[in-house]
Amino acid sequence: MRTIVAGNWKMHTDASGSRALVEHLHEVVPRGASNVEVVVAPPFPFLAQVAEQTRGTRIKVAAQNCHAAEQGAFTGEVSAGMLASIGATYCLVGHSERRQYFGETDALVAKKIMTLLKHGIIPIYCCGENLTERESDRHFDVVADQMKGALGELDSVSLERVVIAYEPVWAIGTGLTASAAQAQDMHAHIRSMLRTHGDVVAATVPILYGGSCKPDNAAAIFSCPDVNGGLIGGAALVAEQFAELIRIAERVKHP
Ligand code: PEP
Repeated sequence: MRTIVAGNWKMHTDASGSRALVEHLHEVVPRGASNVEVVVAPPFPFLAQVAEQTRGTRIKVAAQNCHAAEQGAFTGEVSAGMLASIGATYCLVGHSERRQYFGETDALVAKKIMTLLKHGIIPIYCCGENLTERESDRHFDVVADQMKGALGELDSVSLERVVIAYEPVWAIGTGLTASAAQAQDMHAHIRSMLRTHGDVVAATVPILYGGSCKPDNAAAIFSCPDVNGGLIGGAALVAEQFAELIRIAERVKHP
């Protein structure tokens, strides 16, 4: 099972800032053989530049979104084929900010995932409950429904190529983070859903945790048996913090 530390830059940086951030990452991200994959997801205008800057290094590039269609009259949108053509390896889909501010549903996300897989891009599928759902003890059902809605039509060979990020909405950008027990319980729940598609799927699909992950709380969460790294927002914009999260993930030994 691979471990991934992925940084979501959201709508931050500009051309020179993103270039400088990658240069800084090249200085501080540990080198050498590692079981941890490193991914950064810059805003669209800087994606090709960052792909160029990271070519041949251990840093892989992700897009933050894409359109479900192959091509067409969709002003302002970006297709999976375009992402593949500039060397993107991953694409985030279903992020709670896309759900909340752009009305994205799991049905739409399911289509995006199909298109991405067709173009050889690995979807990082984000799911997670909001605070009301957590407080009313519906979080396991909510995440199960999200997974069925977005991944339910995939056969097991396709599912093996997906990465899942569990991101409790109440923990994103809030400074609140799930406890290690909360994270592990949900990751085990997701893993058991994956197991219904076979042991290979359950043993292959990395499940990342996301939500205010920082160097001071990451060790406890990354050490959970069903946590395979993190999707990082705020701390991914600070090269030293991001590098420290990678080092923490590298130190974790899963049984
Ligand atoms: C995210 O947006 O995916 C995220 C996890 O953000 P933050 O780490 O800032 O909570």
